[in-house]
Amino acid sequence: MMRDSRYDVLFEPVRIGPVTAPNRFYQVPHASGMTNALPRVRAAFREAKAEGGWGVVCTGACSTDPSSDDAPLPMATMWDDNDIRAHALMTDAVHKHGSLAGVELWHGGAAVMNRASRLPPLSPSGIPWMATHIGFMGNLRPKVMDKSDIRDVLKWQAEAARKARSAGFDIVYVYAGMGYLGYEFLLPQYNHRTDEYGGSIANRVRFVRELIEVTKDAVGEHCGVALRVSLEELRGRPGQNQPSEAHELIELLADCPDLFDVKMDSSPTDCSASRFSGEGSHEPVIEFVKSLTKKPVVGVGRFTSPDTMVSQIRRGVLDFIGGARPSIADPFLPAKIREGRMEEIRECIGCNICISSWHDGVPVRCTQNPTAGEEWRRGWHPERVVPAAKKERVLIVGGGPAGLECALTLGRAGHEVTLAHAGRSFGGRLTFEKTLPGLSAWNRVAEYRLGRLNEMSNVSMYLESTLGVDEIIDLAPDHVVVATGARWTNMLYSTLEIPVGTLEHANVFTPDDIAAGRLPEGPVLVFDFDNYYMGGVLTEHLAAQGIDVSYVTPAGQASAWTIMTNELPLVHKALAKRNVPVTTLHMVTAFDGEIATLTHLFNGEQTRVSCRSVLIVGMRTPRNELHEALLARSGDLTAAGIRSVERIGDVLAPGAITHAVHSGHKLARELGTLDMHKPYRRDTPFVDAVPDFAPRVAAE
Ligand code: ADP
Ligand code: SF4
Repeated sequence: MMRDSRYDVLFEPVRIGPVTAPNRFYQVPHASGMTNALPRVRAAFREAKAEGGWGVVCTGACSTDPSSDDAPLPMATMWDDNDIRAHALMTDAVHKHGSLAGVELWHGGAAVMNRASRLPPLSPSGIPWMATHIGFMGNLRPKVMDKSDIRDVLKWQAEAARKARSAGFDIVYVYAGMGYLGYEFLLPQYNHRTDEYGGSIANRVRFVRELIEVTKDAVGEHCGVALRVSLEELRGRPGQNQPSEAHELIELLADCPDLFDVKMDSSPTDCSASRFSGEGSHEPVIEFVKSLTKKPVVGVGRFTSPDTMVSQIRRGVLDFIGGARPSIADPFLPAKIREGRMEEIRECIGCNICISSWHDGVPVRCTQNPTAGEEWRRGWHPERVVPAAKKERVLIVGGGPAGLECALTLGRAGHEVTLAHAGRSFGGRLTFEKTLPGLSAWNRVAEYRLGRLNEMSNVSMYLESTLGVDEIIDLAPDHVVVATGARWTNMLYSTLEIPVGTLEHANVFTPDDIAAGRLPEGPVLVFDFDNYYMGGVLTEHLAAQGIDVSYVTPAGQASAWTIMTNELPLVHKALAKRNVPVTTLHMVTAFDGEIATLTHLFNGEQTRVSCRSVLIVGMRTPRNELHEALLARSGDLTAAGIRSVERIGDVLAPGAITHAVHSGHKLARELGTLDMHKPYRRDTPFVDAVPDFAPRVAAE
């Protein structure tokens, strides 16, 4: 297939100082949760993107010195020779496909707590990050940097840049964004200095300029030197001779770096969930940069549409189409545009499960791309599936995210697949959830898979087909995969922080009731101990229909787990906008149709609240009846030639959509192979030779 010539501009080479990117697709630095302890996992993860056509592929933040230590959050390091060897695996892998490799050298300043190194964090003026969420809190405040500290950070940057070059990197970053050290010098909120590094914008920019200069001196002849800078706050500060201090900063540094990588200031605005913002959301803040510098500019905005990308270039907003999430969801996005395979693009849904992985301290997971992070340890390629040695007939029951992904991957392996689904359209839980406020993009999980499945002659799909054991025996496939999902329960919550007992009343609802079109009579009290998006989004959904609704949770915040997906501040804003009262640290313990009793989680104090209905968003249990019925008839199944019955997705273990997709993919990759239930391949860090380990007990 040929691509449309209007996308040709995306495939032009662009110079970055002494190096040239082969095209305009630029995977900006982003967290992968893969530290130098997982060098092969990381190299394969980044390689997939180079293979998929990203002209530049970068690491995540890479610490220049132990005084920049974000533990237990995963971070890369550029401290010693072992680090150089670990990174070299990645640069070799990226170069194999003709792409450039970039490294985001980073000093965290006061935004890291140095929990592992125990060194005092560094800052321009001793202003600490006072995080309100337990996972990010720390209690070691930063020291004020003196001149020798400034010299040290510059020296570490230069040394790390030289190491980066030895590791094979083509682009080396200076980082001045997202609350980290360079950024702290730029903003007067952090920088109260009265020396030449504080005061006027020209003085506040000095430290960043010096970081760029030492990097250029160290490697500038061979590597492109990039500045990554957050502009949101500075854009809001009026300048002396320019509309804002962000303008003044770019003007002052216009000739300094070889590339500007521009972004927002905080994770929730920089990596905003699709629930609250659309494609290209950074443009109003960064659109001016190109007018003040001749150097190339890269920016992000969850770009998945080639037309939007072309428009960013044509309108002079960006030179490079930056991607973090779109490159995770589809490492082959550039290749698909290049080859005119637009309908095959696996579009990021903006759910931010990827960022939650970093907050969880684990390798990146993605809802749309179950192979993310699994390239090396399970050998999963994002586009290719090993053809099945033996083609078998597989029946999948249930067409939600798990069933659809399983059907797609089995179909790609060449099996003869039948997918039977009870509902009138495929998608399972998404059929309802896509209609909730802000969640329409999530339906891309179903749309992408249906689009591909519809092209496959070896996959048959049936709607409105509720299968029981007899029908399955009649069909007599080789394998049955049960993907029947889960249901919400009316269970309550106890001070042990576990679901316990149930709340029985005609006016007690679960999300399944709302999905089935039963609307509760107001005032409604939503009781949420699921803590992810569902409680908050259903509250918004009811309020949007004019129903009087209030929200109660035993957690400290509404939709508490959404701190992991950057949504939490915006959930609170959305509830406040709809005047929804939020009560935290309380459990619902009783309801008689008129009054709900709330009990304080810690002190047991009770409060009575008038309401007509209670909506419990709590525990989910597997929809397991079919699976149990199949097991009860195992003799009949064997007689019919059915060799295995497996479960995937929510019926196996209820979870987020990402888990269901991964579960469906995993089963499809492993069905009929010896890999079933095998552990994944374990990566090992590069370390200096250690004395041989002597077994304490001789092997038998
Ligand atoms: P998952 O996230 O694991 O894919 P979902 O709940 O989203 O789970 O989707 C499972 C789908 O399977 C539901 O839409 C449900 O209607 C359907 N289903 C449940 N039982 C049967 C059955 N016996 N036959 C066909 N489809 C079923
Ligand atoms: Fe996009 Fe969600 Fe995948 Fe992240 S996890 S890349 S937001 S689809």
